[in-house]
Parts: sequence; C-alpha cells; structure tokens
Amino acid sequence: MIEPSGKTNEREERVKIAVVDDSQFIRYLVKDILEEHGFEVKTFATGRDFLVSSDLGDYDLVLLDIVLPDGDGFSLCRELRNNAECATLPVIFLTAVEDDHARIQSFEAGGNDYLLKPIRPKELLVRVGTQIRLRKYVRELEKLNRELERLAFFDPLTGLPNRRAFDDWLARLESQYIRAQTAYSLIMIDLDRFKHYNDTFGHVQGDELLSTLASVFSNSVRKGDFLARFGGEEFVVLCFSSGEEIGKLVAQRIKNHVEELSLFHPHNPPYGVVTISCGVCGRGEAKNEIELLSRADQALYEAKNRGRNQVVGWKEIRELVLEKKELRGE
Ligand code: GH3
Ligand code: MG
Ligand code: MG
Repeated sequence: MIEPSGKTNEREERVKIAVVDDSQFIRYLVKDILEEHGFEVKTFATGRDFLVSSDLGDYDLVLLDIVLPDGDGFSLCRELRNNAECATLPVIFLTAVEDDHARIQSFEAGGNDYLLKPIRPKELLVRVGTQIRLRKYVRELEKLNRELERLAFFDPLTGLPNRRAFDDWLARLESQYIRAQTAYSLIMIDLDRFKHYNDTFGHVQGDELLSTLASVFSNSVRKGDFLARFGGEEFVVLCFSSGEEIGKLVAQRIKNHVEELSLFHPHNPPYGVVTISCGVCGRGEAKNEIELLSRADQALYEAKNRGRNQVVGWKEIRELVLEKKELRGE
C-alpha cells in the first residue's frame, strides 16, 4: 500500500491541513499523526478562528468537528462553500456521533467525507490521502481550463486578443450602443505589401514584424480602447465613446508610430520602410455592426488605392461609394 504523505515531492510545497476541533486532545492527536507523515498542520479551537485566519486560501484540506463551541460545523462548511477562496476546499467532518441524519447533513452542507471518533490513524491517513489526490486533480483541471480560455481568446504569435475576442467585444459595444447610444468607432489596419516583406526576408522575420507591430499598436491606442488581431496581417481597434473623427486621430497616431520605426522594406515604394494603411468608420455612420465592419473595410481599400501609408475615413468616401452603387443599380 502506498503510504499517504504530505511530502509529494522535495520541490513541491507541503500539503497544508487545518484541524478545527474544540477538543485539545483531538487537535494534538490529529496534528501528531499528520505531521509524522509530512503534512503541515494548523489547529483551531473554534470555527471563527479558522474563518478569520489570514492564510485561509492556502489550505488543501480541513478536518472539521461537527459540534463546535461557536456553532455547528455544518454552517461553517456552508460559509466556506460561499467563499470564493475556499469554495472547493475539501472538508472531512469529524464526529463522535454515529447517526444517519448527521451523516446526510454532512454531505448536504458540502462536506467531502465523514470520519468517526475515536480517530483511527490508518483510516485518517487514507481518507486524507484520497481527498488530497482529488484536490490535486481539480487544481490541474482548473489550470488547464484557464489555459484553454487563454488559447481560445488570444493569438499566440502577438499575444493580442484574437478574432473571437473581438467578436465578443463588438457584440458588447453594440448592445451598449443600442441601449444608451454610447458611440464607438472601428479602425481596420492592414500592413502594406506584407507579401513582399515575407518574400524578401522570409516568414520567420515576417512573424517577428507582426509581433513588433502588435506592441507598437498597443502602445499607440488609448487606455480602454480594444485592439485585436483580426486575422493574418490585419488588426482592428475599437475606440470607445468616439465617433469617426477621434477614430481617425487614433489611427493617424498608430500609422505615424509605425512609419517612425523606419524598418527597412525595400519593396514598399515610395516609402522603403514598413508602413500600414487604415480604414475608419464611426458607429453612427452605419446601420449595424456588420455594415460598420464593411464600411471600415471599404475605407481601408481606398487607403490602399490612394497609395498606402495613410488613413481614410468612411465619410470621405461615402459619396463616391454610394454613387457607384447607384450606377450599378443596387
Ligand atoms: P497590400 O499592401 O495590398 O495589403 O499587400 P499585401 O502584400 O500586404 O497583401 P496580401 O493580402 O496580398 O498579402 C498578405 C500577406 O500576409 C500574405 C500572407 O502570406 C501574409 N501573412 C498573413 N498572415 C501571416 C502570418 O501570420 N505570418 C506571416 N509571416 N505572414 C502572414
Ligand atoms: Mg490583407
Ligand atoms: Mg496587406
């Protein structure tokens, strides 16, 4: 049989257990047994003492007496379950009462196990060992979950939020706009002649450029604006509480910062350095967020047309685009 032990690995932190019991004898006995097996143990005579302890979030398990001087263990367990810091902390009830009702109540209160006094050292150790193992699995799952969430919403190359995160933000801003007319504008950014950059310097350096520019964009937008990698070599910024004019100012600043880097790009005439083009549209200029995206995109297309390394707002090309549409009979 594998002996349960608090020392899982020399480098790992020791497993920390709290014992809450009004009997001094039980506190000493349980502490003794557990410490002998490498666990770190702290004891408390009342439920309150435990609840207010500053290291409440650091425990891996609590052994909890059902009858306490300041209330019963069941209510304490419920309190723990409602506290974000220890909502999943394993609780093993200790009791001298062998009765069905108390046993059921233990689990109803959120307890994980139930141990009868007098304490039998071997039984104590295996039950503790089981809960600690489960606790480790839960922690690993929680860590994996956080990692999955990060992967789902962030782009690994640039570290920026990805298209999915952008869609979420856009939906959120859109509902605020509909509810309270809170203005916002959208900037679409596209690298100029990036294909040639890749062809000249290779994909690895192309990737490095994307990362470098992502940091430049981050440092150029206002605090609170939302920047994301839209896909490939395209980026988007959602500017809060602003119409097209403010959006254009932000875009202009980003564009200038990129040009000022003076990164050699021989096949991007007439500039010879890395540049970007931006299309901007204010939410007030579109009937919904889909049209907003499409209009910012048309403005970007026009920026490319006019020679790249510039910012174009939807309002500047509105007449032109609508005229063309009319000619096509749309
Ligand atoms: P324009 O000025 O008209 O935007 O020209 P462009 O060459 O930038 O545009 P085009 O759409 O023809 O090419 C985009 C290029 O971006 C092609 C593709 O290989 C490259 N690209 C897209 N995503 C990545 C990426 O993650 N890494 C690298 N290195 N290249 C990428
Ligand atoms: Mg593109
Ligand atoms: Mg491009």
